[in-house]
Amino acid sequence: MEHICQHCRALLSSGIRSPYHLSISQLSNSELIKCDLCEAYLLREQGNTELLQAPSFTPSARDCTPSRVESSSLGHRH
Ligand SMILES: [Zn+2]
Repeated sequence: MEHICQHCRALLSSGIRSPYHLSISQLSNSELIKCDLCEAYLLREQGNTELLQAPSFTPSARDCTPSRVESSSLGHRH
């Protein structure tokens, strides 16, 4: 199984979207979604959701990387 969070699992299995799922781009009948929690990329298409890219977990690099994407400010990160 891929290293995706429970929210992505829920989205993939039952289409339940969480606030962590950010819409990156929207086309006519498909949507590119990035998970803000586990950083997976998902493609939503006509009601179906598939995993485009699983996140690669590097916990140590994650914590000490200052150039973390801050532009996608959801406001819930402190
Ligand atoms: Zn996720």
